[in-house]
Amino acid sequence: MAPSRTVLFPFLHFVGALLLTLLCAPCTHAQMIAAHRGYWKSEGAALSQNSIASLREAQNLGVWGSEFDVRLTSDGEVIVNHDPTIGGVTVASNPLSRLKAMTLRNGEAPSTLEEYLLQGKKARTVLVLELKPLKTQALEDELIEKCEQALKEYDLLDPERVIFISFSYHICQALAAANPTFMVQYLNGDKTPEELYKDGIKGLDYHHSVIRSHPDYVQRAHDLSMAVNVWTVDKESDMKYLVGLGVDCITTNEPELARKVIGSSEILPPSLH
Ligand code: MG
Repeated sequence: MAPSRTVLFPFLHFVGALLLTLLCAPCTHAQMIAAHRGYWKSEGAALSQNSIASLREAQNLGVWGSEFDVRLTSDGEVIVNHDPTIGGVTVASNPLSRLKAMTLRNGEAPSTLEEYLLQGKKARTVLVLELKPLKTQALEDELIEKCEQALKEYDLLDPERVIFISFSYHICQALAAANPTFMVQYLNGDKTPEELYKDGIKGLDYHHSVIRSHPDYVQRAHDLSMAVNVWTVDKESDMKYLVGLGVDCITTNEPELARKVIGSSEILPPSLH
């Protein structure tokens, strides 16, 4: 006997809904947002990149992560700054005391890694720590060691609290070898996902133009259970394209725009303080 309509229709409806869910799974891949150098464009940060205020603003916004850059001073201190110089003073050839006399646009002095981590501890926002390439591998090793020490001291040497990124392949390889449970992402765009995987590096964080040239990298990385992060994505059209490709994270100077494009799934619970 043929099944009655009342049995068949709900069944077909269920199968249809299931198929739709399965087909849409790749396009609902969870995207995260990392504020590039903190949320420095917010009013509270007064355009001061890598400032404590920019980290605090990113934490308050509730995005998944906040990116920042670190360098080594001439006396072996780790300082938070993107450029090789601060106000014309070269970081690598000057002691911390000289660099601390400089001011950011909002009046803050450049912060040490320790000072930055003190703010980092106050919320669940993931710290996306970029270690800048240095002149020698010995200096890069010193920077790695000091970052690990500081993170440990502040109870932040935890794969759920920090990920590492770098343009230096040596730094990425060394970090990945020493911290196999941590996410390490290479920035320079000149290695395939397979090459990174072979060298123990679990993630890539490439400029959006590299991903546009190699959109297949996203699936190839995912096939190896690697994460794909993209920098620095500030245009809505680029965000939409990358969301469509299913990248894992977008690093941006426009976190509020990214949130609008991506939706609210990445918003974290309120901070811990
Ligand atoms: Mg950076």
